[in-house]
Amino acid sequence: MTSLFPALHSSPERPALAFPDLTLRYGELAAAAGSLAAHLSGTGRIAVWATPAPETAVAVVAALLAGVAAVPVNPNIGERELAHIVSDSAPTAVLAAAKDELPGPLSALPRIDVPLTSEAPGTPPVEHDPLTPALVIYTSGTTGPPKGVVIPHRAIAANLDDLADVWHWTADDVVVHGLPLFHVHGLVLGVLGPLRRGGTVRHLGRFSPEGVADALSGNGTMLFGVPTMYHRLALALPDSPSLVAALSGARLLVSGSAALPLTDHRWITGATGQRIVERYGMTETLMNTSVRLGDTQAAGTVGQRLGSVEARLTDDSGAPIDGSDGETVGEIEVRGPHLFTGYLGRPEATAAAFRDGWFRTGDMAVRDSDGRFRIVGRRATDLIKSGGYKIGAGEIENALLEHPGVAEAAVTGAPDTDLGERIVAWVVPSHGAEPPSPGELADHVARLLAPHKRPREVRFLTALPRNDMGKVMKRSLDG
Ligand code: ATP
Ligand code: MG
Repeated sequence: MTSLFPALHSSPERPALAFPDLTLRYGELAAAAGSLAAHLSGTGRIAVWATPAPETAVAVVAALLAGVAAVPVNPNIGERELAHIVSDSAPTAVLAAAKDELPGPLSALPRIDVPLTSEAPGTPPVEHDPLTPALVIYTSGTTGPPKGVVIPHRAIAANLDDLADVWHWTADDVVVHGLPLFHVHGLVLGVLGPLRRGGTVRHLGRFSPEGVADALSGNGTMLFGVPTMYHRLALALPDSPSLVAALSGARLLVSGSAALPLTDHRWITGATGQRIVERYGMTETLMNTSVRLGDTQAAGTVGQRLGSVEARLTDDSGAPIDGSDGETVGEIEVRGPHLFTGYLGRPEATAAAFRDGWFRTGDMAVRDSDGRFRIVGRRATDLIKSGGYKIGAGEIENALLEHPGVAEAAVTGAPDTDLGERIVAWVVPSHGAEPPSPGELADHVARLLAPHKRPREVRFLTALPRNDMGKVMKRSLDG
């Protein structure tokens, strides 16, 4: 039996959720979520209109207390994607803040307004069967249409406790972030994480470097962000001594959801003395690996497997490879209590995602002799087979970013009669500078890496196509 929030009733005066306009203490959260949970108990799946507001957190906590699965819905998606999620997840009702208007596909559902206060004291947390569905979270849609991932109570409990071990995460921590609340990063790590520890979430409402500086120089101890946010922090540092002081004073800066460019990492370390802790996860698996605190060798890696996670590398035929030489690339496969139970309504996709009981992440990596994984890229989009070599896009992207004329870079493979695939670099030139010539960029990569990693084609863009997590949508880079 699992209870996700053992600390909910222990310190009613402690702040639980701090949003820009409102702070809820544990006693208030327990009362509001508890009264809503009593209302939800026994219903089917519930959609949650997941704005970056305290109502979203209260709604999700209430659903988890009631043992009802919550489907957090991105409030910024278009009607077509929304209609897909509503028909795919078939919620029985939608939870939303009283002030919010709901668009077409959701407004047809019975609506329950989320309370932020309640007269009734919260009832003690109920224990649920560990495999009870807790959340249905839609993947980021980076490689195809988003899939609904069913995450059980057990996975959340096991994974948050693993992270608490590696990050020394306690009730004294105040986690600062401005992440959306409809993906694992912002919701499971960024909201349920602090609540499971009895600590505090300080949500910025909207991410900004000034907001980060204020929140961390208040009593914030940890910062969670995606690489595009760290990039914005890196750009803001030279003009903001208060941001330098705030980042320098934080206990822990964590990055994930996509690869953190080495240039941003180095820049932030240079200005603040802080190393950023990278962790690697997926909607289907929650977190698999994390850099250990104080690991000085970890830049460019996503660290080691978490305590209850089993992880291995396999070759194309599915055979495990040793891969501890730091060079042999294999697919990461994982096993453990942190895994999802299936894709909603897609038994074939669920079966196809596993091989011999191991979940295939689709991410390719190498591992060093200390067990640190370095992600090379996704099997589907980031591994370019060119002239007999298997080349990871990420390494070339990092090399391009080291050129002063490059602000953003993405690398893809295009079909090529000679090479099988040829390397194509998509580049956003640095602001105000003369764009470097394609030949100069290709020479730069060949010089830093190897001649066969030279881009054969360079295309300039004004911005890379990114989704709401700042991930580059490589499937829209073609032609
Ligand atoms: P979809 O599955 O719909 O194509 P998605 O895979 O981007 O979208 P998520 O589950 O949100 O959806 O993201 C998981 C993926 O994000 C991982 O498989 C991995 O490719 C990438 N990722 C997460 N953390 C890191 C990291 N620290 N470094 C590199 N890649 C990462
Ligand atoms: Mg995925």
